[in-house]
Amino acid sequence: MTRKLAAGNWKMNGVKASLAEAKTLADMFPTPTIDILLCPPATLVTAMADVLTGTKVSVGGQDCHMNTSGAHTGDVSAQMLVDAGADYVILGHSERRADHGETDAIVAAKTVAALEAGLTAIVCVGETLAQREAGETLDVIRAQLAGSLPDGIDLSRLVVAYEPVWAIGTGKVPTLEQIGEVHDDMRATLTARFGGGADTVPLLYGGSVKPSNAAEIFATSNVDGALVGGASLKAADFSGIVSAL
Ligand code: 13P
Repeated sequence: MTRKLAAGNWKMNGVKASLAEAKTLADMFPTPTIDILLCPPATLVTAMADVLTGTKVSVGGQDCHMNTSGAHTGDVSAQMLVDAGADYVILGHSERRADHGETDAIVAAKTVAALEAGLTAIVCVGETLAQREAGETLDVIRAQLAGSLPDGIDLSRLVVAYEPVWAIGTGKVPTLEQIGEVHDDMRATLTARFGGGADTVPLLYGGSVKPSNAAEIFATSNVDGALVGGASLKAADFSGIVSAL
């Protein structure tokens, strides 16, 4: 069985007081049947891990450096995230790719670093609107998967998130057919490269997921969960998505 995962990406949002939302969420799901994850900004990872100690909600980072230590001002290593209490890290988010020029090769190197540190890596892929309109979606996703996932990866600590760039924070969501087409193709692509073990890699959809559309998205072929931005900031919203999975 593929694990189900509801993951929240707080992006550059949240202050110490926001940790009350994390605790409220955790208290709503004392014995969840799925995995629940919150990824706050790096400044809050330690404090969130403290607040969530003894609960079933995990904590993750939103990025890590590919090196283990050194002269990289402003960066955080995978081991530092582990040290802060994280179990996961999001890698290759389209905002990192756009804002920081992260290439597939950089994402692959970060994925190696994350797994070596003991984290589970959530590797993100997704097409732009121009690429979708040009009919290039599946080619773009296949190329991103080929370049962003290292060879010989431990599949038990890999999660892949499909996040169409044009659906992030816009309220626009692909049709269920479009989501299913990409997720089926991602599963086939992973299986062709890594073999049968790829069956158990959770494939998340991300982009304007809300309580009101979560159930139908989760019922779509090869969708094993969601990577949620805006609707993960409040326990009242995110709990609706968790409940739908
Ligand atoms: P929204 O849910 O705000 O559209 O963000 C999706 C996302 O980018 C999660 O990583």
